[in-house]
This record gives sequence, structure tokens and C-alpha cells, in this order.
Amino acid sequence: MVVVDNLITARPANLDGLRGRPGFEFIEADVSNEVRVAGEVTHVLHLASPASPVDFLAYPIQIVKVGTLGTHNMLGLALAKGARFLLASTSEVYGDPLVHPQPESYWGNVNPIGSRSCYDEAKRCAEAFTMAYHRAHAVETRIVRIFNTYGPRMRLDDGRVVPNFMRQALRGEPLTVYGDGSQTRSFTYVDDLVAGLLAVLDSSDPMPFNIGSPIETSVLEFAERIIRLTGSASSIEHLPLPEDDPRQRRPDIARARSVLGWEPRWPLEEGLEVTMAYFTEVTRA
Ligand code: UDP
Repeated sequence: MVVVDNLITARPANLDGLRGRPGFEFIEADVSNEVRVAGEVTHVLHLASPASPVDFLAYPIQIVKVGTLGTHNMLGLALAKGARFLLASTSEVYGDPLVHPQPESYWGNVNPIGSRSCYDEAKRCAEAFTMAYHRAHAVETRIVRIFNTYGPRMRLDDGRVVPNFMRQALRGEPLTVYGDGSQTRSFTYVDDLVAGLLAVLDSSDPMPFNIGSPIETSVLEFAERIIRLTGSASSIEHLPLPEDDPRQRRPDIARARSVLGWEPRWPLEEGLEVTMAYFTEVTRA
């Protein structure tokens, strides 16, 4: 297995479990530039991109590049090696959705010039690139639209809602709810996502699959839940809602259920407990 990462947002320690395994190789490089991989390659999983809204402000150009040029490079690698290609796309292709819940057939409602557009439009272009390589070069391509995912090994300062609320609750600081907190998300535990990625990779279907939890919660309810879970004395502080923050998000997973037999297995309560145990350890360290 060859892992390629330029480490701008990654934690190198996340690879500790793989180092030393026979055949494991790490290349520190940006897939937006040409990356050469020697020998046989059977599968290319293009998972690279900063994905936290905080990163959209810090790395907008790198994000556009990795979604467009990076996707082109990885499709080129798959074509050259005769490998199957999987694109990690995103629920952000639906933008601030006007259809709820979101089926794969929905085309989305994306602001092409807003502060999230570097990510949203790059991923939409990545899907277009992927379908073009499928149609023009018959590359075996797969597309997964990943919804909000959480779990151990996220960065404490990642900026997304799960690490933020957990860090704040553990430190007894106020939980920062953006806006009135009525916007909704559905949270998928990382093991369920990985099972979904592998199910899509193993399938024979090139059309996109939503992979995510269909259990929806408001951000305010979620903050209250984290406070209860930690037994924290933290209060809730409302901060301004970021630009173009989607009002509602929940995947329609009928397609993944029927074609792949996939659905999330982890109850939110259990996933949050495991993740909280991880953040407790990291916060103390
Ligand atoms: N959010 C929040 N407080 C935070 C971080 C995020 O209220 O400290 C909200 C954010 O406005 C959004 C939701 O939580 O409505 C999920 O945000 P996240 O950054 O995790 O990912 P997104 O779903 O926006 O890509």
C-alpha cells in the first residue's frame, strides 16, 4: 500500500499503525503535482483534500487544486496502471440543499463564488472529471458522496463541530454554536464510512453513492447532547453563522441500502463515547 499526503492538515501519527507493514510506503507529496508510483497499482483511492470549513478559508487555492488537478493526476495514474479509481466526493456537492433529504439524483444548490466554493465546486469538477474518464477511457470509476463523519484521530483543532464541541466541553469552555443552531447535520461514525467506501469500491456501479447517517439532529441539540455526554459544566455561546452554511443536510441512503446492502451500524451514542474517550486522552496529553 502506498500512501501519498502532503501533510498540510494530516496527522502523521495516524499512519503509525501502518508503518513497518510489508509493502507499506509513504510518499510526502501533493497529488496536485505529478506523483510517480512504481510497480503494479490495482486501486487508486483519491481521498486527498482539506475538508474542514476552517480550511476553506486557510487553503482555498490548494483545495481547488487538489479537487481538480489532483483528481486529473489520480485518474491519469489509474488509467496508466489499469487500476480501479474511487473518488471521495462530498455532500457539499448539494450545497445548501433545496431538496431534503438529498438523493443522489439531486443536482444541488451551490454558490459558485462563496467562501465554500473552493471545496464544493472543486468536488463537483472532480465528479465531472471522474465521469469523463469513465466515459472516454473506460476507467473503472466509483464515486462516494461522504456526509459529516467523525471519530478518533480527528485533529483537536480541526475546526469542525465534533472536535470543537468535545474540546470545549472537556475544558469547561462554552460550546460555540454558530447562528441559532437550528441548522441540521447527520453524523456518521468513521468505521461505518470505511465500510461504505469499501462497499462502493467493490461494487460495479460507477454512479455516485451517498454514504452517511440518515439520523438528523440540529446543531443546538447536538451541543446539548455533548454537554450531557461529558457531564460538563459548559454553557452555550452563539457566534455568527459562517457564510453559506447549509441549513439542512441528511442523506437519502436508499440507493446504498439496495445496491450495496450498506447502512450505518454504529449508534450515535456509542460513536460519540469512543470519540470522546479519544479526545479526553488527547486533551490530557
Ligand atoms: N458549527 C458550530 N460550531 C462550531 C463548529 C461548527 O455551530 O464550533 C456548525 C456549523 O455552522 C455547521 C455545523 O456545525 O452548521 C457543522 O459544521 P462542520 O464545520 O462540522 O461541517 P460542515 O457540515 O459545515 O461542513
